[in-house]
Amino acid sequence: MKIIIPKTIISKLIEHALLEDPNECCGLLIGKENMVTNIQNCTNIHTSPITRYTIDPKDLLKAENFSDENNMGILAIYHSHTHSQAYPSTTDIENAIESMWTNPYYVLISLVDKTRPIIRAYKISDDKNVEEIIIQHDGEAYISPTKNS
Ligand SMILES: [Zn+2]
Repeated sequence: MKIIIPKTIISKLIEHALLEDPNECCGLLIGKENMVTNIQNCTNIHTSPITRYTIDPKDLLKAENFSDENNMGILAIYHSHTHSQAYPSTTDIENAIESMWTNPYYVLISLVDKTRPIIRAYKISDDKNVEEIIIQHDGEAYISPTKNS
């Protein structure tokens, strides 16, 4: 399994994460099949935005309408972790299952090292299984910079 995220959208993800820091940013990646073509920044309406996120339902509706009108779909839900690794937390996994949003992938942006943000994608299954998805951009494999290696 893989998802193709163009470099321009990768930069927008990082930009959004840095803009909201220390709060978590969140949003949606829209496209067709495995190819992301659009990004919808969403407002994080959670009352503890430093460690949690809730997508503003108005933004979700906007993204759903845009997808329907353009014959596209919501391929991934993204959010940032400003103080932890780019891996879904237990809450992230539970929320994905409870909200029944296990079809889209989950894209995580970690700002633990702000000079080198790390982006990873996952498939969260209904049985709580988390599998990493390969991110490709513009044809080449996207390799996240790994700390101390
Ligand atoms: Zn999270």
